Amino acid sequence: MLKGKTALVTGSTSGIGLGIAKALAQQGANIVLNGFGDAEGPKREIAALGAQVDYHGADMSRPNEIEAMMAHAAQRFGRVDILVNNAGIQHVARVENFPPERWDAIIAINLSSAFHATRLALPAMLAANHGKGWGRIINVASVHGLVASAEKSAYVAAKHGVVGLTKVTALENATTGVTCNAICPGWVLTPLVQKQVDAKAQALKLSNAEATKLLLGEKEPSLQFTTPEELGALAVFLCSAAADNVRGVAWNMDGGWAAQ
Ligand code: NAD
Repeated sequence: MLKGKTALVTGSTSGIGLGIAKALAQQGANIVLNGFGDAEGPKREIAALGAQVDYHGADMSRPNEIEAMMAHAAQRFGRVDILVNNAGIQHVARVENFPPERWDAIIAINLSSAFHATRLALPAMLAANHGKGWGRIINVASVHGLVASAEKSAYVAAKHGVVGLTKVTALENATTGVTCNAICPGWVLTPLVQKQVDAKAQALKLSNAEATKLLLGEKEPSLQFTTPEELGALAVFLCSAAADNVRGVAWNMDGGWAAQ
């Protein structure tokens, strides 16, 4: 379905980003990976699916590195057709104790990076398909783009911002072939969430299994984690022709979290 298209997924050396990159690779897209840590393992996983794969290690908190990454992708594959803004970090503390440098980092990585990558991807998307435009911008927000939790001020502010950016980007391009939508997962068991399970286990002297059960039970009625594979399937749908007129939605996949 996506043969000949190129997808750039930020923060795709791990977790949800890697799951989405794999799902898009399975549909035949070329993949540009990004993120910290080991890139060789993820590159091999994508190549094993038969996709062409490249990697750029831009720090998503730095606009000049995002510019270099977008230029690199365009040079390698011609243009970015599918942009998945996924890179993100978390920090948990009450507002009065929240370290200002953590606030700045979360806003830069979880929100501003999506603005920079989007502004740089749009011109080529709008010129695609003989000037009629074709492109898919998928912002990995969170259920925290729709509702709040205590001690996550920067994250909740950034994710609400991502949902706002999604709507504006969708509206500005509504008469073109470029769509923009957000995905809003509930709990997904990735390194980002395992850290929160570990913190709970340590604070309450619980086992990993007990802390996991408590974490799910507090917020997610299904008591199930959403998986990177399920989120990948949703991204594939948003890239399909059936989703041509899906514009500016914030689609939660959260086990009922936001329905409460
Ligand atoms: P993760 O920690 O497994 O992956 C985060 C990715 O972002 C990694 O590849 C990491 O290297 C990369 N990254 C971090 N800082 C970066 C930077 N400055 N520059 C470039 N890359 C950077 O986390 P995840 O859970 O897969 O999170 C992915 C996205 O999904 C985030 O935006 C997160 O907010 C969102 N999300 C996660 C959950 C969850 O429950 N795990 C729920 C809702 C939303």
